Amino acid sequence: MSLAGWETPESGALFVVSGASGSGKTTLLHRVFQQVPGLEFSVSATTRAIRPGEAEGVDYHYVDLPTFEKLRDEGALLEHANVYGRCYGTPRRPVEQALAQGRSIVLDIDIVGARQVRVSHPEAVSVFVLPPSIAAIQERLFARGTDSGEIIARRIADARVQLSACGEYDFLVMNDDLDTATAVLTGIVLAELSRVGRRKGWVGRFSG
Ligand code: 5GP
Repeated sequence: MSLAGWETPESGALFVVSGASGSGKTTLLHRVFQQVPGLEFSVSATTRAIRPGEAEGVDYHYVDLPTFEKLRDEGALLEHANVYGRCYGTPRRPVEQALAQGRSIVLDIDIVGARQVRVSHPEAVSVFVLPPSIAAIQERLFARGTDSGEIIARRIADARVQLSACGEYDFLVMNDDLDTATAVLTGIVLAELSRVGRRKGWVGRFSG
């Protein structure tokens, strides 16, 4: 699929994407960012350690706990949550700037953060990425090889909690086959960005 000729709308959208660890959400999101021109990623602040292959300012802003608490207490975070004992939060300013300038931005956040965004930004479009089964998550986490057995067990327990909230979202994407899931998530993003309310220019062109 080529979207080379696709025009971004005048009015962008706020997307919230959640999914249990091992649901393949990160790979899926990378593919969607490659497909859809102009879509931006909100870089979260976190107190967790940087992993091999990650970069400061690209995957996360890696901060210590006092810095995180200062950001939170100053109101600089749009939402925040504790995930696996580490703090994660969305810097408010880049999101608000993107939306004010008509750009679209994606938040990859957990269910606790998503609930806060639904309150502050009821217009946000939320998507939950589902794994085919809990067993599939377990397999993916073992295959990734970055976590110990104990951490995997904790991630599976947390995955069950995250998954139980999937009914709160606007859209569900089943990530069994990656190509299929990419097409579905890309379709959701494009449909939202094709809403008539975001395309005043095209309406004006043909309605005199
Ligand atoms: P990881 O440490 O594996 O990159 O991410 C762990 C979990 O934290 C993922 O489910 C991810 O969606 C979530 N997460 C990442 N950034 C944020 C954030 O800014 N806020 C919240 N609430 N969750 C986040």
